[in-house]
Parts: sequence; C-alpha cells; structure tokens
Amino acid sequence: MSRLFRSLLCVCCCWVSSQPALGFLPSPLSLWPRMGSKFGGQKDETPEGVTVRLQPSPLAQSGHSPSNSLPEVSPTRNEGGSFSKGAIDRFLPFENFCPGMIGPSPQAKALRKKEEQAACDPLRRPLVIEGEYGTLKANLGGRIHLDSPQAVRAPAVSPTASELNVDPGLLRNEERTGLLDRLPPGSSLIVRDANFLDPLLLTVLVEDERTKFDPEKPQAPEIRLMLIAHAPLPCESSLLKGFSRIKIEPLRLRKKDIRPQVDLWLDNLGKHLGTRSGQTMQTVKVKLARDALQALEAYNFPMNDQELRTLIETAFRNLKTETVKEATAGSKWAFEEETRAPPCNFQILRREHIWPSSWTVALARKQWSLLDIFPWLREAVDTNLWPEAFQFNVVRPVFALWIAALFLGPQDRESNGFLNIFWCWWWPLIVLTYPLIGRAWCSFCPFMTFGEWVQRVRLGWSNLTGVGGGGGKRVKGGGGVLQKWPDRLMNKYGPLFLYWFFFGILIWEEAWDLPNNGSLSAFLLLLITGGAVVCSAIFEDRLWCRHLCPIGGMNGMFSTLSILEIRSAEGICKAECADYTCQKGVPVERAEEHKEARRRLFKDREFEAEGQQGVGGEKEEEEETLKLSFSFSRGSLVDENNPPTVLTPPEPTDSISFNDFLIDPTGSKAAAFGVSGLRGCPVHLHPNRIQDNTQCVLCTQCLQACEKGSAELHLRPPGFDLTQPDSPGRGRDAALAFLLLGNVLMRREGVMGKLMSLPSAWVEGVTLEHGLLTCVLLLMPIVSVFVIDRLAAALFTLTSGGQLVEPGKVRLQKASVEHAWEKLTDVPLPVLRRQDETERHSFIYMARAWIPFAWGANLAHYFPDFAEEGLQVLHAFARMIPQEWGNLQSSLLSILPGVSLEPHVTVFVQVASLLVGTLGGALVSQVVGRSRKYSHASVHAAMIVAGAVALSVELFDFRDLFVQ
Ligand code: SF4
Ligand code: SF4
Ligand code: SF4
Repeated sequence: MSRLFRSLLCVCCCWVSSQPALGFLPSPLSLWPRMGSKFGGQKDETPEGVTVRLQPSPLAQSGHSPSNSLPEVSPTRNEGGSFSKGAIDRFLPFENFCPGMIGPSPQAKALRKKEEQAACDPLRRPLVIEGEYGTLKANLGGRIHLDSPQAVRAPAVSPTASELNVDPGLLRNEERTGLLDRLPPGSSLIVRDANFLDPLLLTVLVEDERTKFDPEKPQAPEIRLMLIAHAPLPCESSLLKGFSRIKIEPLRLRKKDIRPQVDLWLDNLGKHLGTRSGQTMQTVKVKLARDALQALEAYNFPMNDQELRTLIETAFRNLKTETVKEATAGSKWAFEEETRAPPCNFQILRREHIWPSSWTVALARKQWSLLDIFPWLREAVDTNLWPEAFQFNVVRPVFALWIAALFLGPQDRESNGFLNIFWCWWWPLIVLTYPLIGRAWCSFCPFMTFGEWVQRVRLGWSNLTGVGGGGGKRVKGGGGVLQKWPDRLMNKYGPLFLYWFFFGILIWEEAWDLPNNGSLSAFLLLLITGGAVVCSAIFEDRLWCRHLCPIGGMNGMFSTLSILEIRSAEGICKAECADYTCQKGVPVERAEEHKEARRRLFKDREFEAEGQQGVGGEKEEEEETLKLSFSFSRGSLVDENNPPTVLTPPEPTDSISFNDFLIDPTGSKAAAFGVSGLRGCPVHLHPNRIQDNTQCVLCTQCLQACEKGSAELHLRPPGFDLTQPDSPGRGRDAALAFLLLGNVLMRREGVMGKLMSLPSAWVEGVTLEHGLLTCVLLLMPIVSVFVIDRLAAALFTLTSGGQLVEPGKVRLQKASVEHAWEKLTDVPLPVLRRQDETERHSFIYMARAWIPFAWGANLAHYFPDFAEEGLQVLHAFARMIPQEWGNLQSSLLSILPGVSLEPHVTVFVQVASLLVGTLGGALVSQVVGRSRKYSHASVHAAMIVAGAVALSVELFDFRDLFVQ
C-alpha cells in the first residue's frame, strides 16, 4: 500500500512540479500517469480513486533488467520515514511506464541503443540528455534508470531547476535531509530544465562527493546525475567532463515514429478504458485513419512528442463512441454495472477527432486536397485518359491539321481562323488562366506530344513505360537507347539558352510581324516542336520541358501564381515509401500489382471514411517498434465473406504491331493488353521535394504512380509560391519576368514612334534600327529596375549611415556588374552586403515580386486582341472557304453575328489587370522582404512607378474614349 501511496504522490507532484517546465502545456511526465490512472490498466486503487498503472519495462520483460515495479527504497535509508513523507518523495516522478523512444526511424533506433548502453553502464556515468522542448527527455532519463540493475533498490527522483533554485536546501541542508544525503546508493537524480539551474548549484551537484564522476579514476558514483537540457548548458565544458551526452532529435525529423507512437498510445488508452477491477479487457480498438496520419505527418510539432501525445489523448476523449461516453460519464472513469462489460469495439480516429475540422488543418496548411474533395477526380486520374489519351488521340491530329492550315490557308489573321485562334485566343487565354490552372498547358502540349511520340517510337511500344528507370519489355519497332540528362551542363547553360531563345523569338515576331503571317507562325510552332522532338529522341524523358523550352519557362514562371499544386505528404514519403515510384515509375511487370495496391488503399480509405476497418491496404508495422507493450490488433485483413478479387495479370505480349501503336498509343490501349506501366515523373521531380510550381508540368503521372496515395493535387491561395520564404530565387524566372515586361513595351513601339516622331524604319520592318529599338525595349525593364534598385539601396545605405559594402569586399560593386549574367543562372548573388544582416538585399530574390506585375501587364496587352479580333474568329474561318465554292463564303459571312466587346469593357479589364498585378507585386515584395529581411522599399517604389507608367500608356491608347 505504501508503494501505491507513493505512486499517488508521485502523480500529484509530477503535475505540480511540471508546470513551470513547459508553461502552458501539461508535463510529459504528468499526462501519461493521469491518463493511465483514469483508464485503468493493471492498476491499484487508492482511497482517492486515483490509480496508477504498473507495467514491466520491456528490458525487464526480456530478462535484461530486474525492475518491473516502482523501485523499492532501501530499508536502511528509510529510517526516519523521510522517503514516505519527506523531500524525496516529492520528486519521485515516474510510474513504471516510461515508454522510452519507440519507432522505426534511424534516430529512434540509435537512441534506443544509447539508452540501453547508458542503462547497462557499470560506471554509471552522469548524463546530459538534450533535446527540444517536449521531446520527453526526462522520460528517457527515467527509462534509463528503470532499466538499470540499480533500479530494484533505489529510486530516481526528478526535481526541476526552478525548485532547486528557489530552495537549494532541497539538495543539501543542515539537517542533512536533502536529496544528496538521503538518496540511497544506486539512485538517479534527474534534474529537469537544467539550463535554468543556478551555476553555483550546478557546480555543487557535479562536484558533490556522492554524484561526482572522475574520468581520471573512473568509479561509479553513488547517485547518478542526469541533466535534462533543451539547449547547451551555460557552464564551463570542463565541469561536464566525463558526462555522456544523449541527444533526442525533434519529432519533425523522425516522422516515421509518429505512427507507432500513436498506435501504442491508442492501444493502451483503449485497453485502459475497458479495464475494471484489475481485469484487463480490450474494449476499444482504435485505429488511426490515414487522413489523420497525413495531417499529423504534415504538421511539424513545435512541442514535439509531448504535443503529439496531448493531441492523441484529447482526440481519444473526443471519440463519440458509446463506450467512451459510458466510461467517461462516471466520476472514476469506470463502469458502474458489472453486467455492462462492453464488447470489443472498433473505432477509427479520424482527422476531425484530432483537429476540430479538416478545414482548420487545411486553412493552417493553406492546402486542400482536390482528390479528396472530388473522389471522381482520382478515378479520372487513374483512367489515364488525361492527359495521355487526350494528347495522342486529340491533340496530335489537331495540331497536324493546324500546322497544315497555317501553311496552306490565308496568311492574315482576318482570313485565317487558325491564325486568329493562335494569336488572339491562345495568348490571352493562357495568360488569363495562369492563376487558375498554372502550367496545365504543358500537360497536353502538342510540342511535347510529338516529342514523346518520337521517343516512344525510338524505344519501342512497351518500353515507353520504362522511361525514367522503370524498366520495361522491348518489342519490335524500337531498340533505341536514350541518354541520361547532362545535368551540370543544363543547370549552367539551360537558363541562358532559354532566355536568349525567347529573346530571339520575340525579335523575330516583331520584325517579321509573325502575328499576321500564317507560314511564319507555323514555322515558329515547328521550331519549338523540333526542339522537343530532337531532345526527346536523344535524351530520356522531357529534358526540353525542364530546361530549354521558352514557352515552358514562361509557363513555369507564371505558374507560381497558380491556385493548383501537386505535392505529396512529407511524412508518408519519408516514413513509408522505399521505392519512389512517383519518380522512377512502375515497370510493366509490376503494373497490375501496383493497381491492385492502389485499389486496396483507396478501398481502405473508403472504409475508414465510413468508420469501418479496412480490407488491408497496409503492411504490418515493423515488429521492432513493438518492443514495448504494443498489442494493437489490426483485425482481419481479409473479409472472408467478401474476399477481394484476385486479378490475374494477362500474359505479357510482344505481338503488338507498330500499327497498333499508331492507332492508339495510349494508356487505355496498354491497359487492354495488360502491359501498361507508369513512367514516373517526366521532368525528374519528386513531389515531396517540389519547392515551387516552376518545374512541374502537371502531367499527373506521380498521382497515378504513387502506391501510397501520398501525391495529391492541392488547391491553395494564388501566388502561394511567391510568398514562401524557402522557395528558391531563380535568376531565370526573374529575367523572364522582365523580358515579358519588355515584350509589352515592344508591342507599344508604334505608339512610341508616333509620340517621339520616329521614322518608320525604327518601328516596323526588317531593319537594323527596328531591331536595335526592339532590343532596347526588351532589355529596358531589367536594366531600369536594376539601376533604380541599386540607387535606392545606395541611398538608403548612405542615409542610414551604413557602409556601402562590407570591409574587405570593396570589389563587390564591380563583381555585381561582372556577374550580371550570373543572375540568369540560378545563382543568387547578393549584390550589396552590409554588416547589418537585416538590411541584406537580394535583387534576384526580390525580383519575384515583378511576376504578378508582368502577368497583369501581359494580360492588359493581349486582351484587346481577343476583344477586337478574337471574337471575330468565326468570320475568319468563313473567309477560309475558297471563292471557287460559289457564294458559300459570302452567305456565311452575312449570317454570322458580329460579336465584339465595348471598348469600355476592354479598358476596364486592362486597368483591373494592371492594378491587380501592381498590388499583387507590392504585396509579394512586402511579404518576401519581411520574411527574408531584405530591403524592399526600392522594389515598391519601382513597381509603383512602373504601374503608373503602364496605366498611363494603356489609358493613352484609349484617350479618345475619355475625351468623348
Ligand atoms: S515545356 Fe514547352 S514543350 Fe514542354 S510541355 Fe510545356 S510548352 Fe510544351
Ligand atoms: S509520392 Fe508516393 S511514391 Fe513518391 S515518395 Fe511519396 S509515397 Fe513514395
Ligand atoms: S509527375 Fe512530375 S511533372 Fe508530373 S505532376 Fe508529378 S511532379 Fe509534376
């Protein structure tokens, strides 16, 4: 009974003593006993009704440690009753269930090893246990003590630093009733929050004759000292000479451990709920739903394991089961009637039990999974109809027809509907849709459709699934070997090539007036297609799209504004995935197995959503994690009454002819033959490591190829990438944003020519002057913003009394000019460094604020084309009807309605897009500047000036409207 009384005291003291340690959160040492007591277990009841669960340690179970109960106090030391009522009892913190570190992560494994070594250390070296708040460090100290041979005869006590600071007599006093005098040999003194310990007291502790450990003459101290610290201890390192150090990694670095930890806690909570009168009944089995696991793994747990445990315990109480209701209704969390022993009850702990609403989680993460919200979308993705079937069955023939019509049809936009759509629909629409669907154009782009077609022809039909490393079976008609990407070359020169290729195309467009020339427009399309085809024929996957395509560069840069993104759940990828099929692909041989696994996974999720047990889409967890009491049962994995259909994969065939390929070279055809694999990410991305949308071509391959269902299509706020402090600052994107601003200026050459009375040779035709002026206008934004930015930064530095450059870095100004081109190569170059970190400035990083502005300016530029000519597209198609076909053309033209927009509407859209772009850019510069501590005043100023100029130019175009 005295043991139980001590347990009661320890629970109460633990709660009281833990408060200062963690502030507003309950102590790690306090919660578990409280839950344990409430839910029972192998328990003894005290008069107050508070119970403590006693459980042998795993090492004790394995025969390693003699300890399986609260430590008995040496009778010789118990004289005077100090152990039952005195200072020592106040600090007995541990019930005998200290779970230690569980989980399959490498960090947890390493820690368990250290824990075992420390427990078995014959010299009982003192320890410093370090780790962030909430990593249950004191728990680990307790575990080490309980697993040591001395635990059978001596206790571990755990005062906090603040308690010792307030009353140093607790350690040693004149009556010699302090801890250092009264603790029996073999005890452990675990000092929590040792960082706050008075340095004098720390010295006393380390140097005391009973705790002192001398590395020169190693001998086990009578009392083992363990210092629990959340940061390096502020003392001389010589003082801690001879201490062993154990560091507990934060939970965010070992997300693999979340699942076993939660399962363990849920298992014990479920057991305790049904325990009554010392008899254990498993009444509630609680399984963590996948969505809940995803939510937990997506969260970074600033308070680590402690926070996780609190969440789970609270969630468990929130389970609205009859069992829980009944059990919690009683004052002692026990059933009132013996006959009401509940049957085993299976429950799912879902995300909404952990967080009140999934929207709360989504709002916190600013991401909503569209595949969960619209399940039909997931099925659509799995059918492979989008984008493959669409690309090969629709886009490919339509594009061929388009090119033919551009070459063979009328050459001006008024009379060629295809040319009209290209310049008056495609451009405004693609710019308009960037904030909505981002780079979705690239998922079905005709250029790469032909590139992939050629690639598959080179490889052979069935090997198309092996592209990207998945392997595959060759058939007749193929045999080519694709090269690996020259990554270093591409990273270095790819952005330069892309920029100048785009630059050249813009000059070509302007000088040769491509928008009014069908053949040249077709050549432009074929030029980009040619690049895609050549690269795809030589290199694996979509090298062209990742590094070289100018349209892809523009799409990627503007897709940072998009409200869609593809990302995966970090925890699942790190904790559960070993094969990375999202990136490597699924080979033909494993395709059916893969589909079956996905089918089971989503079936499980459906069951979970309905609150039932799944059919078994998951593997059993690694047994090592169950070293502690972990008897969670997953139940039957197979429903015997309704066994899952066993899919027999069809025999692989190599009899597919080249004609089959030409008729239907798609996934649907492949599925019919049963030889379909999945190729994984064609641009070599890993959805878990995507930093922003720039490189992802939204092909959805990873969604299909991920067997764990981790890759997701998210909805998010527009421009989310731009505001993230950890997304990279890319010189290529900055340069492209300014180039597209230059594109808008270039299109205003006519207006400028009139204003400045320039000769016609300067503003039209293939002349040197026109070429020069075009180059100047294309480069004007980047040069002017750079100069404004530098002047503003220099002015700021001078007026604030700072130094222009750091001492010893006088060459930096020169270097910033020398390396101007480096800005196009993804290498951030801090142009001006000051001594004060908060004033550091990065031109490239801040240049992202110009992306929204470039978007607004381009929309403002292209929209009038749509409003004035695009809406006349039917007339343009009608004019393509040959005159020889009688009066069909004129009849059609006479009956077709004339559709056009009022000029006021056009002006409104232009002004609105410019304002949205300017405000969006200013907002981004504010957020980015603050988060990175860069100076952003110059960006603001330059953007406002540019916005005002752009608005003036637009309004100048329509001045007649306002004059009237
Ligand atoms: S990057 Fe270029 S070639 Fe590739 S899909 Fe996009 S537009 Fe097409
Ligand atoms: S996205 Fe899927 S396949 Fe890729 S690493 Fe994550 S779990 Fe594995
Ligand atoms: S496979 Fe790669 S490119 Fe395609 S959606 Fe996934 S991450 Fe993006």
